[in-house]
This record gives sequence, structure tokens and C-alpha cells, in this order.
Amino acid sequence: MKKLFKKVVICLTAVFSLAAFSACYKPNTSGQSVLTSFYPVYLITQRITNGTEINVQNMARPQTGCLHDYQLTTLDMRLLSSANVLIINGAGMEHSFIEKAVDETNINVIDSSEGLFDESGINEEHEEHFHSDEDGHDHDHEINSHLWMSLDMVSVQAQNICSGLKEIYPQYSDIIDKNTQLFINDINSLKELEKANQTGNDFNVISFNEAFHYLLEENGAQITAEIEIDENSTPTARQMAQMSDSAKELNVKAVFCADDNGRIFAETIGRELNIPVYVLDPLTYTVSSDDYISAMKNNILTISEAKNK
Ligand SMILES: [Zn+2]
Repeated sequence: MKKLFKKVVICLTAVFSLAAFSACYKPNTSGQSVLTSFYPVYLITQRITNGTEINVQNMARPQTGCLHDYQLTTLDMRLLSSANVLIINGAGMEHSFIEKAVDETNINVIDSSEGLFDESGINEEHEEHFHSDEDGHDHDHEINSHLWMSLDMVSVQAQNICSGLKEIYPQYSDIIDKNTQLFINDINSLKELEKANQTGNDFNVISFNEAFHYLLEENGAQITAEIEIDENSTPTARQMAQMSDSAKELNVKAVFCADDNGRIFAETIGRELNIPVYVLDPLTYTVSSDDYISAMKNNILTISEAKNK
């Protein structure tokens, strides 16, 4: 009995020291610690810092998904206080917490969306609007902030992250430049792949995730109905009925969704209208790959399969 008790004590000690270790563990004390706001920014930043001593950590937990209404946790505040720089997606994605993060920790911020939208929030290429009303209050939720799902925009994001990091870590300028160029070369190969999807017949689709907006557009799809849901929300009955009606009217060929809450609704519509359902990866958490390029390649090939069916 005594022996057993002792064993239990040893086990508990092991658990506690591990917990204490994780709680105190700071990955980097030399000022080379970079925090990314969430997964897509993390994937891009990792490629850009590959081979340097810069330690990249992701703030949001892997299962968080997008950050549209995200609230900072105590752990996030601790990470923000110990990191040297925070890299954000921008375009409103981090609007619910970025002010608090900067005010309370004084952290440097690299906004990867810089220059993509003009002051009034209009990106002419993608016809996205960012309104201000009369009292000057910005409605940043009106922008589709899933920029990394556009090959054009992700190249700009990579360049912004590159120049931001070079300013803070000039000792790695050459390697950061080289990595960014390699990443953009890979993006350009994906653009070649997209070209095949941009020609041919009309390709009307419906999408159950606003994250796919830019990707579907860049691949020649006309989105006839789009439900703005994310990992944590579900469509209303009214939205479902509207989708179904527009799909019937407009000869919709495919339904796209993520492997999340929306999938079951997408499959319902698919069955009702006898249209195939395809799952795309929004890259907001590890789904098909932990590499940006291969995950996007899978997405483009899936759209191609849907289009040529
Ligand atoms: Zn989202």
C-alpha cells in the first residue's frame, strides 16, 4: 500500500514539473520570437523564415479557425507580452482584439494586408468594398478578409511579411528575400494551374464558406449564392431556401463547403438538387496539408474536377 502511494506521488510530481515547465517555458529570450495571429499567416511566415533563427509561434490554437470575433485568452496575452513581433492577416480579420493587443503589450505589428485596399477600403481588382458611415465608424466586417485564399493577394501578403521582418531582423535579409522569392515562384506555378480553370463554359456554383470567395473567383467560378458562415456557425432555413432557389434558376453545377459545420447543409442542398458537393480546405487549421502550396494545389485541382465533371 505504501509502495503504491509512493508511485502515485512520483507520477504526480512528474505531471506537475511538466506543467510547471510548460508554463514557464519561453521559446526564445533573444528577441527573435515572432507570433502569428492564426494558421494561414503562420504557414506563410514559416516559409519566409525557414533557415533563420527566428522562432515562429502561432497565437490561436490550431482548432480555432478564423478570428472574426476572437477574444484574447490569458495565454495569448502572455505570448503577446513575450514575443517581439506579431504578424497579422489584417483587412479586419483581427479587428476584435488587435487594439487591445497593441495597447496592453506594445508589440510590433506587421500587417500583411498593407497596400491591398486603399483608404476607402476598395480593392479594385476584387471589387471589395469597405464602407465608412457618416460618423466615420468603419465597418471592417464588410471586407472579405480571407486574403490568403487569393493567389494574387497572398503574394502581396508574403512581400509585406518579408519587408516587415527584414526591418526587424536585417541580419537575415538575404535568406528572407530568397525564401519569399521561392514562395512567390511556387504561387506563380499555382497561377499557371488556375489558368486552365479560367477558360471554358460558365461555371455557376454555390459556396458554404465565405473563405472560398476569392479562390472560386480566381478559378473562373461564378458564385451564385454564398452563405457567410465559418467554422462555428450554421446557415438559417431562409438562407438554405434562397440557395436552393438560385441554384435551380441558374443551373448551378457544384456546391463547395469546408469540412466543418456547413458540410451537412451543403450535402442537403446537393442531394435536393442532385448536384455534387466538393470539400475545399480554408487553410485556417490543418486539414489536407500543413504546407500552404500543397493545400492550395489540392483546392485548385478539386475545383478543376468539379468544373470538368
Ligand atoms: Zn473566416
